[in-house]
Amino acid sequence: MRRSLLFTALLAPALAAAAPGDLLVHCGRVFDADGARMLDARYLLVRDGRIAAIDRAAPADAGDAARIDLSAATCLPGLIDMHVHLGSQTSPAAYAEGFRMNPEDYAYRSVGYAEKTLMAGFTTVRDLGGAQVQGLRNAIDQGLVRGPRIMAAGKSIATTGGHADPRNGISRELIQALGYPGPEDGVVAGEVEARRAVRQRYKEGSDLIKITATGGVLSFARSGDNPQFMEDEIRAIVQTARDYGYKVAAHAHGAEGMRRAVAAGVDSIEHGTWMDDEVMALMRERGTWYVPTITAGVFVGEMAREPGYYPEIVRPKALAVGPQIQRTFARAWRAGVRIAFGTDAGVFHHGDNAREFELMVEAGMPPAQALQSATRNAAELLGRWDELGSLEAGKLADLVAVAGDPLTDIGLMRRVGFVMKDGVVHKDELTAGR
Ligand SMILES: [Zn+2]
Repeated sequence: MRRSLLFTALLAPALAAAAPGDLLVHCGRVFDADGARMLDARYLLVRDGRIAAIDRAAPADAGDAARIDLSAATCLPGLIDMHVHLGSQTSPAAYAEGFRMNPEDYAYRSVGYAEKTLMAGFTTVRDLGGAQVQGLRNAIDQGLVRGPRIMAAGKSIATTGGHADPRNGISRELIQALGYPGPEDGVVAGEVEARRAVRQRYKEGSDLIKITATGGVLSFARSGDNPQFMEDEIRAIVQTARDYGYKVAAHAHGAEGMRRAVAAGVDSIEHGTWMDDEVMALMRERGTWYVPTITAGVFVGEMAREPGYYPEIVRPKALAVGPQIQRTFARAWRAGVRIAFGTDAGVFHHGDNAREFELMVEAGMPPAQALQSATRNAAELLGRWDELGSLEAGKLADLVAVAGDPLTDIGLMRRVGFVMKDGVVHKDELTAGR
């Protein structure tokens, strides 16, 4: 399956080249992402990759637009995942492969991951750390590869031995041979190097900045939650990022590292596992977003019980973090912290992103708010609410559909049957007559 998807993508070099004519999409129901409610039937006129009009009746200038009959389905804005890693995917072999595989091996794999993500209904993603992803983004934008619109962080920024230090867990001889990592590799000490690392990401074509404010689960290191930056270092990163129009996403499991990151002005806390009341209050005050990634927590908790799936140094961290993220998410939601949908896909299998909706609803979030977190909220966090996140005239024509009403059955989101991105149909198992 993977192989056939990959070749389909490689053999279709002009996916977006043919300028599509006008399309008239008839939706049985439409999810209003701004109001977090379901509307009844609507017609959408799609022109030049954008929504030209949306109305109860077919717009007068629809003319001879090609009809897409989704009158038996629910249409939603293209889904947005704030936290994926398209450059890799979990497997027991992943740690050893890091020593054997070349960049092009990872790049070819990521083509399949991108296609699965799009086919699952995710038309836009933030890639929070991974090599080659700027190249994947460019190939998708050029229509060479099928995948979501990508905002790529490029190499995450960490401190020595920190969660994203690329030399963790390898022998001294190898470290000496490879050289000690510096700001170019995303490892910094002090404000000067912090600024330099941000500028290096700009030079490489990143779209935002990712930092690892605390230890993490899957890195080859003991602590999964200790603070790993001083507040002045994070402040230097945030201030420098602003000069380039960048948002800053902070991976954080422990409360102290989170507190420093929020105080220093980051835009989002990723995972937030041991978030305490003080941090929640600070996030509300500062308007900081929480991107929960419950799916990744649940998945690593499950896999940690399989002997040999993770190295022994990783297992206890995965067992501790696994069940905690969903509990923290439930508390943060009740406390009124702003939540944007994000999964950490890659830590689990690409294409399973929509499991997150079920886990959010299971933790007490109403389905309409869960859907809003992956549409309006995510578009706001991206800074692209003017063109993404809702089905409104003037916005990019990113539209997905499911058979049935996800407000009464959130599990339907795992079976997206229609995907349009930029006005181009990439998947259609739902239109009448098929
Ligand atoms: Zn991640």
